[in-house]
Amino acid sequence: MHSDTDAGTTLNLGLTWLNRYASLGEEFSQAQAAQPLPSPYWVGQSPSAAKVLGLDTDWQASGELLQALSGNSVIPGTNPRASVYSGHQFGVWAGQLGDGRALWLGETDTGWEVQLKGAGPTPYSRRGDGRAVLRSSIREFLCSEAMHALGIPTTRALCVTGSDAPVWREEKETAAVVTRMAPSFIRFGHFEHFSYQGETAQLKALADFVIDHHYPQCRQDLAIQGNPYAGLLQAVSEKTAAMVAAWQGVGFCHGVMNTDNMSILGLTLDYGPFQFMDSYIPGHICNHSDTQGRYAFNKQAQVAYWNLYCLGQALLPLIDDQELALAALASYKTVFPDELQSRLSAKLGLQLRLEDDRALIETILALLAADRVDHTIFWRRLTHFAQDGVAAPVSDLFLDRSAAQDWLQAYAKRLTKEDANTAAAVMRQTNPAYVLRNHLAQQAIQQAQQKDFSELERLRALLDNPFEEQAGMERYADFAPQWASTLEISCSS
Ligand code: AMP
Ligand code: MG
Repeated sequence: MHSDTDAGTTLNLGLTWLNRYASLGEEFSQAQAAQPLPSPYWVGQSPSAAKVLGLDTDWQASGELLQALSGNSVIPGTNPRASVYSGHQFGVWAGQLGDGRALWLGETDTGWEVQLKGAGPTPYSRRGDGRAVLRSSIREFLCSEAMHALGIPTTRALCVTGSDAPVWREEKETAAVVTRMAPSFIRFGHFEHFSYQGETAQLKALADFVIDHHYPQCRQDLAIQGNPYAGLLQAVSEKTAAMVAAWQGVGFCHGVMNTDNMSILGLTLDYGPFQFMDSYIPGHICNHSDTQGRYAFNKQAQVAYWNLYCLGQALLPLIDDQELALAALASYKTVFPDELQSRLSAKLGLQLRLEDDRALIETILALLAADRVDHTIFWRRLTHFAQDGVAAPVSDLFLDRSAAQDWLQAYAKRLTKEDANTAAAVMRQTNPAYVLRNHLAQQAIQQAQQKDFSELERLRALLDNPFEEQAGMERYADFAPQWASTLEISCSS
């Protein structure tokens, strides 16, 4: 810790910082120093995130960076701040929330906003301690990077640093900080905040900021009847629809789709009690605290629309025309089913859209649900079936084998209308061999809690390449063990 204070003066990451969100002013974010974290250590690092951020190649060994990303020194040029937002949580207006434990360092000239999550209390911490525990930080780190590798829009994670400093949740845990990055961390809740306060000038400044930096086309061809704010609502609706369709395609449950966890760029944001489903159960609830199943797997599309409606409501003072706002939202209702159909067709290797395809898809989803078949394994085995025509590995997954065999026959017949090589190639890039199952994350967490980070690194590297079977990694593509179903993942993080 000897060089903590002067670390910041020499730290040169090869990055230039712009601090554009800070320039909006004090009503949007407050300067906030990080709370130091004693004797930090590296827990996990993502070379691919570092590369897109534009970090110097020696970053992984930098003791100065370790200190800075743990909140012990300030990276020159950054301006750590916490932003204010509000939101609807579990369908109820929750009032003011804000970055209670995330610090916004600024935005690099490479187009990435960088945040430290778990860097200590802020003016928006309410009763929280501003910290994040190692367990949840590892889950966010691994999942952000895994989602990116799956081609699903998401915030990224550069690294996790840890410390032995105690943090109290249901029991004593230890602190960690995730360095996460996104082109923007602005949430639906940022808009809701100013709108509910009746602060229309700030609402407009925020909307103009988002349009100027992220949706400039809303001033031109994406404007609806010349209205850029309606254009913005429609663009966000479409991005959100694409994101949720992508989730449905890989069996991903977000778990806490509150409006404050919804990204204005349609990125998967705020990884908490998320889960990649093991058995395909359409009504699966991954968040132990979600007793009503509001955020169940098969409710995600509806809930996203509900959230967009909240955004529409928040933007109404700017759109200034209810009909126009409703028209902008309506695009979700065509884009979501379209995107979902494309994702599911790709999972089956179908390029052409034929009349009976929908029935083919519905039948297999019903069979998967009836027999609670493992989602990832089914689709990966089907990928092999499309290539080699061997049915048993697929039909063996079902209790009702004859129904599965009948379906496979119909599917094989349908496949003959496609180019076989293209179909197989599309499926290999759509149906991953590996996803971040809860039990795999749990094993990496347990070892990391003993200061052994090798399993975490193995898993990260594996999930960086999820579409290719890797030698010796069969266990990671296998069924979840019995104990996985007893894992309870809650909002506690
Ligand atoms: P989440 O459920 O993680 O999306 O968090 C909801 C709100 O609670 C956000 O405003 C967070 O910043 C805040 N929050 C969650 N955990 C903490 C914590 N340990 N300390 C301070 N604020 C927190
Ligand atoms: Mg959140």
